[in-house]
Amino acid sequence: MENLYVHVPFCVSKCRYCAFSSEAGADAGRIRDFVRLLPRELALRGATGTHPSTVYLGGGTPSILGADGLRALFASLPRPAPGAEVSVEVNPADVTPALAAALRAAGATRVSIGAQSFSDRALAWLGRRHGPERVREAVAALRDAGVPSLSLDLIAALPGAPAGEFSASLREAIALEPDHVSVYPLSVEPGTPLARAGVAPPSDDEALAAVAESESVLAAAGYARYELSNYARPGFECRHNLAVWRGEDYTGAGPAACSREGRERRANAPSFDAWRAALESGCLPPAEIESLSGDEDESERFATRVRLARWRGPDPATPSSRRRLAALEALARDGLAAPLGGGDWTLTARGREVADAVMAELA
Ligand code: SF4
Repeated sequence: MENLYVHVPFCVSKCRYCAFSSEAGADAGRIRDFVRLLPRELALRGATGTHPSTVYLGGGTPSILGADGLRALFASLPRPAPGAEVSVEVNPADVTPALAAALRAAGATRVSIGAQSFSDRALAWLGRRHGPERVREAVAALRDAGVPSLSLDLIAALPGAPAGEFSASLREAIALEPDHVSVYPLSVEPGTPLARAGVAPPSDDEALAAVAESESVLAAAGYARYELSNYARPGFECRHNLAVWRGEDYTGAGPAACSREGRERRANAPSFDAWRAALESGCLPPAEIESLSGDEDESERFATRVRLARWRGPDPATPSSRRRLAALEALARDGLAAPLGGGDWTLTARGREVADAVMAELA
């Protein structure tokens, strides 16, 4: 197993835009059960004894486990390969010097901080449980603890935001000199508090303007756009996500975690209770499992690759790859994709704007 993802399914409270699988309330007993039972799932999946080259703790909110919980969780993970990337998502509200030191001592090499904005107004509107000052304090604590690579997440194109609010957040983020920045235009997902409140999503033009601004401001500060929503200083791209986008296999553990192993696509059921009950009785947790045909598998792995700034074109060895190559050449004639030489391709600026449609053409 090369790439391991662990989903920590708890948050203190739900943010108003959040459609990720996590339960609010941070019940201490349930969190203890999660940390106690995760090693059983890893053992049943055959992960024990492997040495992954990337590990990613996401969620939910991994930092909710606190310094002791994180130490225990890390102790139960397979030992990463030498030089592995070990990423952890944190909510800045949870980051104290003790938590930062525990993360570093446990082996975290990269921490992704859910900053989302540097505007008090925007953070309150999004339902975040921290202000901008906590983000600055989290960055300082993680840096003091010696975490080698820091990333900040931002949300752009908030409906009704005062002019200049996002630009100011982008500047504040850059001023903290992170190694990596992710920028996602707001998405209003069904069932979220924002959707229930009737908030309209940003228009395509608003979202595209925010992405264009992010790309040019971040490029001027030395961050290359290496994926549709991700920017990094050279050498600081997220290796785990790169592996997933390039179509490599990955193994997920925890409620709602997804895996891709060979032609099998698996999604653990999101219910923590069902996950816990199965593992208590020594069984794998319930999951939806799909077996893909060779063509479906190739098509899916190819479609995620085009999110990257540079990707390998289809190898025209099979009829489906030849069809995909023909589709790619048609997209190139329409100015949406361009060859880079050596069999590599990129989306053009216009192609990135309509990336979802391009991916559907190439599926
Ligand atoms: S902290 Fe992250 S996972 Fe938790 S509710 Fe907020 S956005 Fe969702």
